[in-house]
Amino acid sequence: MNSVRLRVEGLSKRFRSHGVEVTALEGIHMEIRDQEFATILGPSGCGKSTLLRILAGLSRPTAGVARLDGRVIEGPGKDRGMVFQNYTLFPWLTVMENIQFGLRLSGRERTDCEAVARGFVQKIGLSGFERAYPRSLSGGMKQRVAIARALANDPNILLLDEPFGALDTQTRSLMQELLLQIWEELHKTILFVTHDVEEAVFLSDRIFVMTARPGRIKAVLEVPLARPRDYQVKASSEFLRIKTEVSRLIREESIRALTSSMMEPCSQEG
Ligand code: ADP
Ligand code: MG
Repeated sequence: MNSVRLRVEGLSKRFRSHGVEVTALEGIHMEIRDQEFATILGPSGCGKSTLLRILAGLSRPTAGVARLDGRVIEGPGKDRGMVFQNYTLFPWLTVMENIQFGLRLSGRERTDCEAVARGFVQKIGLSGFERAYPRSLSGGMKQRVAIARALANDPNILLLDEPFGALDTQTRSLMQELLLQIWEELHKTILFVTHDVEEAVFLSDRIFVMTARPGRIKAVLEVPLARPRDYQVKASSEFLRIKTEVSRLIREESIRALTSSMMEPCSQEG
């Protein structure tokens, strides 16, 4: 059993907007093991991004703590790599420059940074696009660069918030396989957020299913599918069995979210 890398203890988050208090997260406990591929799965609005932003150090919890390798998370740090759904590359930098950005900031030799970046360009299959600017790349290519940029700093954990959410089904499927390949090669610890059941089952060692607002951990499921996995596993009876089980849990929460939002006449959420 691998040691624990990320430990979340009693994390809660309340927002106050227009005089209304919203409890986004309540009493979240979780432990992510070293080199694990863990997924947080939950219906829209259940607090997934809020949780990831706290872990990234971009937002402070109202209660509780999160520790990475024993250290309390109090702000952003190079020990965590982030990838968001919306493409967040620097538009004025090329693919190579984007990937090297963090390394250059940390003061490493230029040639050293370039070598690392070139390695990642290859891993993400973008050889030939080193000098391209983000505007000339497809959505899938941009996310590949974003993943490479996050990994180039050699973080202790990679945090991904619905990184493939804006991609078409085919591209999404290819990106899932690419991410698994990179994960198997680099032995990184990954915490991946999604609302897509199939994506969660395909990628994960364990799935943390969240409740509708306020977000709590409803269930933790092991995914015993063999690795390495490719897209064909999605058609196996074992995959479908797990998918059905997880879908049932998520469906309960989606229905709960829908009915509770219908009970809120002044809800301002879209
Ligand atoms: P998810 O990522 O699961 O869709 P979010 O974490 O974005 O959910 O949001 C969880 C809840 O917290 C939602 O009700 C959302 O409206 C609320 N929320 C998120 N960020 C803020 C904020 N900055 N101010 C007020 N409410 C917020
Ligand atoms: Mg979100």
